[in-house]
Amino acid sequence: MKDMYDLVVIGAGSGGIATARRAAVYGARVAVIESGRLGGTCVNVGCVPKKVMWNAASLAHGMEMAGDYGFKITRQGFDWPAMKKKRDEYIVRLNDIYKRNLNLDDIVLIQGHGRFIDAHKIEIEIETNGKKQVIEAKHILIATGGRPMVPDIPGADLGITSDGFFEIENLPERVVVVGAGYIAVELAGVLNSLGSEVTMILRRETFLRSFDASLRETLMEEVMNAGVNILSCTHMNSIEKQEDGRLHITSTHSEDIRNIDSLVWAIGRNPNTDDIGLDKVGLSANKDGFLETDEYQNTAAERVYAVGDITGRAALTPVAIAAGRHLAERLFNGQSEAKLDYANIPSVVFSHPPIATVGMTEGEARDQYGSVKVYQSRFTNMLHSLSEHKPKSSMKLITAGAKEKVVGIHVIGEGADEMIQGFAVAMKMGACKSDLDDTVAVHPTASEELVLLK
Ligand code: FAD
Ligand code: NDP
Repeated sequence: MKDMYDLVVIGAGSGGIATARRAAVYGARVAVIESGRLGGTCVNVGCVPKKVMWNAASLAHGMEMAGDYGFKITRQGFDWPAMKKKRDEYIVRLNDIYKRNLNLDDIVLIQGHGRFIDAHKIEIEIETNGKKQVIEAKHILIATGGRPMVPDIPGADLGITSDGFFEIENLPERVVVVGAGYIAVELAGVLNSLGSEVTMILRRETFLRSFDASLRETLMEEVMNAGVNILSCTHMNSIEKQEDGRLHITSTHSEDIRNIDSLVWAIGRNPNTDDIGLDKVGLSANKDGFLETDEYQNTAAERVYAVGDITGRAALTPVAIAAGRHLAERLFNGQSEAKLDYANIPSVVFSHPPIATVGMTEGEARDQYGSVKVYQSRFTNMLHSLSEHKPKSSMKLITAGAKEKVVGIHVIGEGADEMIQGFAVAMKMGACKSDLDDTVAVHPTASEELVLLK
């Protein structure tokens, strides 16, 4: 006896849950299959615990600065286990909220690993008893996300990934972070701020290569000023365990790195498309493992869709959610043209200081438009006016065409993370430089710089 649903979703992460819940609003009979914890990467080993850690790191910076403002405090010891306990409890509460919400929406949750039998049937290996259950659906969504990559070099498994980072029980004394993207920069920043001695190993000259040069140059400077040791153009060779349990790392750097408590791989993520039976529906992943879709999230198989990290587009939670909600509107609410516009997606790197960006980098804009006008400002945030150390903030506005349409905004500095959302709305509405000029500044703030650029 098979159960029949209007929609079956494989993966209860950001994209899967958002699609399922929106479909249920329109009366669809929905089942969600999840092999791990509800909420997926973002809730359990991504955005949420990472932001908690970033908040902790920001508080550490605040304590360091408090003395400059006359407070008679010095930075006190940090109780990592106590913080981790509260962070983990918070995430368990979120898992429960997700479960409750699925219940309230009459969505059936099946805990196990889902694989296609054919374009309408999914077999689930039930987590608790190893038995198999088959369910049938009119529409099937794949939202299985990704997992961290580990390189194929001797001793690689002695390192941890971002998943392992969230299991660390105590502040590691000496850490190596390998990688050059969002995760490497964020985790290295958190660990350094909380007191670890951090070395970043980059295989090329800089990190965040796809970001505007103004951002990565300012951040490289700030990260080095903060005491992170950066080894550029360095390739890892091997990792061995020393007698005392710590790690010994060899690389193309002239000296070996010894006495390392924790090595974190942050070199990208592999999409979970390899064990879901794609061949049973005539689908295959591309050479990087991603499952490509058209702009409506349709895969090449009829009534089989994909959203989120597995599609190889911007791997961000709000993107997975928005793509999924549009899909549900199209399938279950008659919005036949509903689709996510992937242009001008804002994003933040939770570094210290944070980076916020939307639209094209200067290089991309020059390639597309030929001639562009660039407005830039580099300044010290007033927060640091009483401090000896004065980290720089930087803002760049890129405009194109006779009307000077804003095509890129790039900010690094305190508050960048909270200021970009509003500017992204303006950009989405087609804002021109004159619209920013016509907007009265809010003073004294850092964001006012963006409407005062000359
Ligand atoms: P996921 O959230 O990964 O969900 C996929 C789910 O599918 C998982 O729960 C998995 O267990 C399940 N699954 C997989 N295969 C099967 C199967 N065969 N059967 C059943 N279940 C299956 N994004 C931001 O926007 N902001 C941030 O600050 C941010 N920080 C991040 C920090 C880190 C350390 C990481 C790793 C990621 C971060 N991201 C951030 C990215 C964000 O987490 C992802 O883009 C988002 O979670 C993708 O959602 P998804 O639905 O595609 O997949
Ligand atoms: P990214 O793709 O952002 O970065 C990984 C980088 O590591 C590559 O760009 C590459 O940089 C470098 N790299 C790749 N292979 C190797 C290797 N073998 N040795 C050394 N370096 C290597 O991946 P992340 O894992 O950092 O993050 C995955 C995605 O998750 C992000 O792209 C982002 O979409 C999302 N995310 C979002 C966050 C946010 O919104 N704040 C936070 C965290 C993640 P290079 O080529 O320059 O060497």
